[in-house]
Amino acid sequence: MNESRRVYFDHQATCPVDPRVLEAMLPFFRETFGNAASRSHSYGWDAERATDQARESIGAAIGASGREIVFTSGATESNNLAILGAARMYRDKGKHLITCGTEHKAVLDPMKFLEHEGWEVTVLDVDGLGRIDLDALRAAIRPDTTLVSLMHANNEIGTLHPIAKIGAICKEKGVLFHTDATQSVGKVPVDVEAMGVDLLSASAHKIYGPKGVGMLYVRRRAPRVRLDPIMHGGGHERGLRSGTLNVPGIVGFARALELCLAERDSDSARVGALRDRLQRRFEEALTHVHVNGDQENRLAANLNISFEFVEGESLLMGMEGIAVSSGSACTSASLEPSYVLRALGVGDELAHSSVRFSLGRASTEDEVDYVAARTIAAVTRLREMSPLYEMALEGIDLKTVQWTGH
Ligand SMILES: *Cc1c(COP(=O)(O)O)cnc(C)c1O
Repeated sequence: MNESRRVYFDHQATCPVDPRVLEAMLPFFRETFGNAASRSHSYGWDAERATDQARESIGAAIGASGREIVFTSGATESNNLAILGAARMYRDKGKHLITCGTEHKAVLDPMKFLEHEGWEVTVLDVDGLGRIDLDALRAAIRPDTTLVSLMHANNEIGTLHPIAKIGAICKEKGVLFHTDATQSVGKVPVDVEAMGVDLLSASAHKIYGPKGVGMLYVRRRAPRVRLDPIMHGGGHERGLRSGTLNVPGIVGFARALELCLAERDSDSARVGALRDRLQRRFEEALTHVHVNGDQENRLAANLNISFEFVEGESLLMGMEGIAVSSGSACTSASLEPSYVLRALGVGDELAHSSVRFSLGRASTEDEVDYVAARTIAAVTRLREMSPLYEMALEGIDLKTVQWTGH
């Protein structure tokens, strides 16, 4: 095998910019470079027209109007604006918020921040597949609850939450519903009306657009959602997000989403088949493998799998040239494995041995076979050095072993 070959299976971390997106962006660095807020000349008008078109197009893609789209620097900012903005705007109604344990840090950390500022946050549990219990959600909503924030598709395990059902519960109870749809927009159908969503975050770079641009959908009617801005300045984006618009980025974001929608069904069928092929390869060649997340309701591109008796980071080191993510956190300051997998009740051992493969638009069968072969070889090599694996093969139940010498 050619060890210097590179394969990118980390599309849930970021995607390359599609050449068609780049093509659409280039004029907005060169000729049409104006400031969309410049009202007195055609440079400004041209830039504004481009951002308005992008706004309409992105709005239409999620069942919203262009006027409901606020451009930001990415989903981290969108999540912060939604959560901090709604919590502060409606603080007189109450100071209770609801989320769940598998959310992205860009949701959990603003929630934690608000906790320090006097809000109360209920973090819902998820089951072993990463699903929330709708009855538990219903029961958690109180008279002083103002906002529920639950993601659409999970970035680590690909599990999809039943957004329309959550939206209906929130509507019935009269609380606002924010969803971090960064991993789902462009990949699965999203409609803010049908799903009862009031606030929705998305980001361009997860859908083959440029990094550093995202958006927050803010419902304007039934109900009209108001937010306290977190960025203060020139009053751009109807005062919700001051700062000169990233015109090329916004144009690229809209183009990226248009392409995703045009190709969504064929893309997800093709990518899903590749992902299934990869999973099958592992399950056929290896014992003691565990797929993490909900295999019924999962993003087509995602495979999060634990290779028991193998440490994720060591495995990645044995797969040079192959870009994937591991749920083991030996590279970070903490030795904690993935908090998402732990929220599912996956034990530390298995969480440490997890790898996320996320396929993309340009992934091929040949790449899948290559990655499968390299991974299987690396897992096999590491297991051969593992006394625990040997004991397991001999049928010894490791849970019953009396360890000494601590
Ligand atoms: C990537 C990601 C984010 C952060 O998006 P940025 O645009 O990089 O700030 C937030 N939520 C989810 C689910 C993501 O996958």
